[in-house]
Amino acid sequence: MIDVYDPVYLVTILFFVLALERMSSPKTARSGIVYAGAAMLVATIATFFIPGMGNLWLIVLAAGIGGLVGFYAAKKVAMTDMPQMVAIYNGMGGGAAGAIAAVELLSNVGLTYGALSVAGAVIGSVSFSGSVIAFLKLQGWMRQRPITFPGQQPLNMTVLGATLVVGALTLVVAPSWALPLFFVLALGFGLLLTLPIGGADMPVVISLFNALTGIAVAMDGFALANYAMIIAGILVGAAGSMLTVLMARAMNRSIGNVLFGAFGAVEESGRPVEGALKPIEADDVAVMLAYASKVVIAPGYGMAVAQAQHKVKELSDLLEQKGVSVKFAIHPVAGRMPGHMNVLLAEAGIAYDKLFDRDEINPEFPSADVVLVIGANDVVNPAARRAGSPLQGMPILDVDQAKNVIILKRGQGKGFAGVENELFYKDNARMLYGDAQESVARLVAAVKKL
Ligand code: NDP
Repeated sequence: MIDVYDPVYLVTILFFVLALERMSSPKTARSGIVYAGAAMLVATIATFFIPGMGNLWLIVLAAGIGGLVGFYAAKKVAMTDMPQMVAIYNGMGGGAAGAIAAVELLSNVGLTYGALSVAGAVIGSVSFSGSVIAFLKLQGWMRQRPITFPGQQPLNMTVLGATLVVGALTLVVAPSWALPLFFVLALGFGLLLTLPIGGADMPVVISLFNALTGIAVAMDGFALANYAMIIAGILVGAAGSMLTVLMARAMNRSIGNVLFGAFGAVEESGRPVEGALKPIEADDVAVMLAYASKVVIAPGYGMAVAQAQHKVKELSDLLEQKGVSVKFAIHPVAGRMPGHMNVLLAEAGIAYDKLFDRDEINPEFPSADVVLVIGANDVVNPAARRAGSPLQGMPILDVDQAKNVIILKRGQGKGFAGVENELFYKDNARMLYGDAQESVARLVAAVKKL
């Protein structure tokens, strides 16, 4: 028999797919979010019509409180804090998937569905506790560097093995102590897995946990015979997996290396770099810019903090009016979330055809007269080319090959990975100190006077 929620689920699934499709282009992405949100709301309401649903008011109350907290937090969050918000929301999804699996396991659903629930419980729990650690690290409430200790990997593998054994016990023999122990072990594994992962790897890890949450939801969907959950979970799992692979590729790392490599564990902050930092004034930079034929702008996290994108657009328009060619170099992990720079520059109205990714722009640096590094640090650090550096292997923007490099930053602050930047000490590099928005405003004023 077809229940009322079945056709509704079908329509919402269609909208989930359309939403993903729309998110693939910056022009339609906003409507994609609206499609997905509306479909999720309708699917949630339809779920109330599943026969046998109890505790309706409790569910409404919980959903109301959760919805309000989510709405308020999303409104309030700064763009630069987005990764930790994504991490914690994603963790909540994993936790919910784990909780659903627990209910399934308590109601003796049989071996096949039980096995799916065990899988959903492990994956959801790992995603939950791992995401909480990712949140704490990104929020700066916990040491960002990898936390390592001797025998870590064997311990992790033992905990994973124990989780699976107790999970099987829960299923087959079902002693009363097994289910709580199973969840403690699964949550512990997520925690242990994430502790040795360093800050710079967080983009990859967050999208990996995102994929895991999707897979956990799909497993629960099979156990509950709920195809909206199956398909939505698979969509999230597939999209998250693809993003994970793309991000890992952008960092030139394998997923295994991200998870087990304790990237950035070496404290290198004290390493002496030869040369001196050479400050420069905005008026002098303005002259260099106005008489250049080719300028490349490499933005990073500091541009986001300073909200300098509108001033940057003004500067780039001014220079173009003077006949200067202006291009933007976009590193895939610049900022604090995938596409962060693209979003900010689009918000300021900078045309997409002016943005170039790393492979496109790197060959152009030697012919650039001036590169303006606006609040970027790790993504332009030549230390990445050197063996032994914690950044080793991360592909960077080769800005140091330009004729002149001007770095806009407030002071001696290090990048996200905490590594000294060798670029700043090079002969062709000059430091323009100050908040990026104010510095770019000074450049705009100075170029106008020329
Ligand atoms: P970084 O975080 O390496 O460096 C940012 C720089 O901006 C700092 O040197 C800081 O120096 C400067 N800065 C901060 N505020 C301002 C301001 N108001 N005005 C001017 N400058 C400012 O940035 P990148 O973009 O180069 O690198 C991103 C890093 O973040 C990478 O390590 C990446 O792996 C990681 N990451 C990326 C994510 C993603 O998905 N994109 C997610 C999570 C992490 P000072 O304090 O001296 O001003």
